Amino acid sequence: MEYKRLGKSGLQVSRLSFGSWLTFGKQIGDNTAEDLMTVAYDNGINFFDNAESYAGGKSEEVMGEVLKKKGWRRDSYIVSSKVFFGADGGMKDLKPTQVGLSRKHVVEACHQALKRLQVDYLDLYFCHRPDKQTPIEETVWAMHNLIQQGKVLYWGTSEWSAQEIMEAHMVARQYNLIGPTMEQPQYNMFVRNKVEVEYSQIYKTVGLGTTIWSPLASGVLTGKYNDGFPEGTRLGIEGLEWLKDRSLAEENLAKVKKLTGLSKELGMSMPLLALAWCLKNDDVSTVILGASKKEQLQENLKALEAKEKLTAEVMEKIESILANKPEH
Ligand code: NDP
Repeated sequence: MEYKRLGKSGLQVSRLSFGSWLTFGKQIGDNTAEDLMTVAYDNGINFFDNAESYAGGKSEEVMGEVLKKKGWRRDSYIVSSKVFFGADGGMKDLKPTQVGLSRKHVVEACHQALKRLQVDYLDLYFCHRPDKQTPIEETVWAMHNLIQQGKVLYWGTSEWSAQEIMEAHMVARQYNLIGPTMEQPQYNMFVRNKVEVEYSQIYKTVGLGTTIWSPLASGVLTGKYNDGFPEGTRLGIEGLEWLKDRSLAEENLAKVKKLTGLSKELGMSMPLLALAWCLKNDDVSTVILGASKKEQLQENLKALEAKEKLTAEVMEKIESILANKPEH
C-alpha cells in the first residue's frame, strides 16, 4: 500500500480507502461487511468512510460493530462521518433541525455518529453538501469547536464549490479557526471538472486534500454493464432508478467498451484500468473503493500495481477514447 498526506495536513492516508455507501446495512449482510473491512485493513487500507445518512444510520452501526469486534488499535485507522442529509433511521420523517449544517445539527450529528461507530472521536468529519440556509461562519465555528473538544481531528467538505471552500478558509483566517483540510468530490473517467480544473488553484493555496468517491461510476467502469444488465448489481437495486438512469448513458457505455479493449491489451481488468487512472492524478489523496463482494475488493486492491502500466502513451490513448478532458 502507498500512503499520502491528506493535502497539507500531516495525516498519512492510504491511497486506496474503503467506503460503505449502499452496501453496509443495506445491500450486503453484516458478515460480508466484516470480511470486506478485514481484507481492506489487512492490505494496508487505513481509512474507512461513512456518513450519518448511509442506510439511515445503520451503515455506521455495522462499521462500529466491526471496529469493536476486530479490536484494531484506534491509532492505526482513520474513520469518518458526514453531516447534512440527516440519519432518518429508515423513517423518512426528518425534522428541519435534523438536517443541514446549523451548529445544532453539526454537533448533534457528531455525537450520534460517535455513538453509532462506538469511537471517542472522528478522524475526518465532512459537510456532506453546502447548506445555503446556514451562514458559513456558524458551520466553521461549530467544526472548530468540535476539534477543540477532541471529538473531531480534521474537518472537510463534500461537493462544495472552490468558492465555498475558500469562503470557509477566509472565515477561519478571520477568527483564527481551523479551516477545512479535505474535500470529497466525485471523480472518475466521466466526472472530471471539479478535481482537474475547479480546485486546481486551491491545491496550491490552501493545500486541499481529496478523498474521491465513485471511482468506478457505481460499477459502470468495470465493464459489467457492457452487454446487457447483470443480476444482483447496484444499478438494479429498488429505489435507485435515478442512479441507473444517470449512469447508463449510451455515450458512456460506448466508451467503456473501447476502454475494455484497451485494458485487455494492457493485460489488466477494466476496473483496474479505471481505478489506476484515478490514482495517476497526484491531486487525489485517496480513492475510496466500494465493494459488495470480497473478490471485487481483492481485485481492486491491485490498482496501485496497475498504475505502473499507465505510461504517458497509454494515458494519451485513454484520453482520446474519453474525449472529455475539461478545459482549464
Ligand atoms: P464505485 O464507483 O467504485 O462503485 C462501487 C460498486 O461497484 C461496488 O459496490 C460494486 O457494486 C461495483 N464493483 C466494485 N468493484 C467491482 C469489480 N472489481 N467488479 C465488478 N463490480 C465491482 O464506488 P462507490 O460509488 O461505492 O463510492 C465509494 C465510496 O465513496 C462510498 O462507499 C462512500 O464512502 C463514498 N461516497 C461518497 C459520496 C459523497 O457524496 N461524498 C457519494 C457516493 C459515495 P455491485 O456489486 O453492486 O455492482
